[in-house]
Amino acid sequence: MTQGKTAIITGASSGIGQATAKELASKGYQVLLAARREDRLIELKKEIEAAGGTAEYKVTDVTSAEEMKALAEEALNKFGQIDVLVNNAGLMPLSFMNKLKIDEWDKMVDVNIKGVLYGIAAVLPIMEKQKFGHVLNVSSVAGHMVFKGSAVYSGTKYAVRAISDGLRQEIDPSHEIRVTIVSPGAVQTELTSTITDEDVLASMKDRGSMKPLEAQDIANAIAYAVEQPAHVDVNEILIRPRQQA
Ligand code: NDP
Repeated sequence: MTQGKTAIITGASSGIGQATAKELASKGYQVLLAARREDRLIELKKEIEAAGGTAEYKVTDVTSAEEMKALAEEALNKFGQIDVLVNNAGLMPLSFMNKLKIDEWDKMVDVNIKGVLYGIAAVLPIMEKQKFGHVLNVSSVAGHMVFKGSAVYSGTKYAVRAISDGLRQEIDPSHEIRVTIVSPGAVQTELTSTITDEDVLASMKDRGSMKPLEAQDIANAIAYAVEQPAHVDVNEILIRPRQQA
């Protein structure tokens, strides 16, 4: 069993999760990579190891409480402790409400809300026993404001913020357990690939020439929060591209 700081990252197969895994590994964290696409996780594990880091992976669907519990157990078995959980996996199939894309609403609720809850359920008993740990939940600027097409997505991201703040307040003050919300604006990733509403897609073409953030920018923010001394809890990081309203 290896000792040292460890982090579980969901949605590690692309975008923000992938960049965060690499960033934390470069800072000496042993990382456990979770997502559904195994080929991507294998590739990332190899890349982290080639750079001198330590990575394991476990194919995990965050919509399964059992799989999330097994993920936390895997981290304990491989690394002996869980310092950080980054609940990052998410979907954003934006649509106008009257399209009644109920299937997509269900998926967003399942991944964006229940996935975060199952992550918390998986690590909280372990962190309470350890008396330390850090849960970082990825919300969004869309968890602070609603725009046309974002009603359900924003609903899930507002929920992530509420759940995170409630959890933070309930932590036993004698425990060194921290909770952080990370709320990015537009980041260049694969996130928009799940949008099927043609009207939303058309409306997004008029965005102008705004330069989005890179996944690395969010990884840097997450690394900042986890690297703070134990008495500092970065409650939320709200981070936009300079040109985003
Ligand atoms: P990506 O689409 O690049 O990554 C999403 C990740 O979530 C993938 O690794 C995917 O892995 C994983 N995922 C999706 N469904 C599941 C599931 N059921 N079980 C496990 N993993 C799952 O998007 P981003 O990196 O941009 O998104 C990461 C987070 O950042 C999301 O929560 C998103 O809402 C949030 N965010 C992103 C913004 C942006 O502009 N990009 C802005 C604000 C917030 P796989 O398919 O392999 O399972």
